Amino acid sequence: MSGAGSKLLASGLCRAAVALHLTMFSVFAADFTAARQRMVREQLAAPGRDITNRQVLAAMARVPRHEFVPENARDGAYADHPLPIGHGQTISQPYIVAYMTEVLEPRPTDRVLEIGTGSGYQAAVLAALVKEVYSIEIIEPLARRAEADLKRLAYTNVHVRAGDGYKGWPEAAPFDAIIVTCAPEEVPQPLIDQLKEGGRMIIPVGPIYDQNLYLLTKKEGKVLRQAVLAVRFVPMTGGKK
Ligand code: SAH
Repeated sequence: MSGAGSKLLASGLCRAAVALHLTMFSVFAADFTAARQRMVREQLAAPGRDITNRQVLAAMARVPRHEFVPENARDGAYADHPLPIGHGQTISQPYIVAYMTEVLEPRPTDRVLEIGTGSGYQAAVLAALVKEVYSIEIIEPLARRAEADLKRLAYTNVHVRAGDGYKGWPEAAPFDAIIVTCAPEEVPQPLIDQLKEGGRMIIPVGPIYDQNLYLLTKKEGKVLRQAVLAVRFVPMTGGKK
């Protein structure tokens, strides 16, 4: 074959390879979209699960959960369970993310604090529903990775900080809502202090095998506390001083 002929063949093959790659990419993207719609239908809106807030369901249908899990776990990104994200930590089960988000009653004008950024997925779901999200992660490499993923996916209203969430984020306080995704033994006082009057906090409290999710509401300076669900979260580490 002449030099020109083999060049032509090579460029044709190259174009075919690019086209195949693009086709495969869109097939995968379509698979993830279908899996995400199924997750919303079967794990969140289904009887017995009963997530009803339409905005929350729409956010769960939109946020690409597979982008927040390790590459080798992507196939299971829309399954009904938590997944490891490295450093001994996990991304919560989709139902728990939707449940906690629904209980917070997010509004488009809200500024929300999250303790335990982890993968950044919960922060992304909130970012789709509220004005600003402030999220703190104590394991620095997780904080940096979540920050990079959120930036790559254009969630511009999430602010990530590496640090001890026990102390909250005083410079950005007070918050309309606070969500804690790691379990302390007691509700940290700084977080109560940083919640607005009328604000809501959802937080798992207790030792690893005996935790309850509590909804705290601040009304006329008093804190009302209601147990809403038995759960199992990773413990809150860091300073309790
Ligand atoms: N919301 C996360 C899941 C979080 S797992 C997601 O959507 O993926 C709980 C996270 O809380 C872990 O990453 C853990 O490192 C973090 N964590 C534990 N104690 C903490 C503390 N004192 N301050 C901030 N983050 C903490």
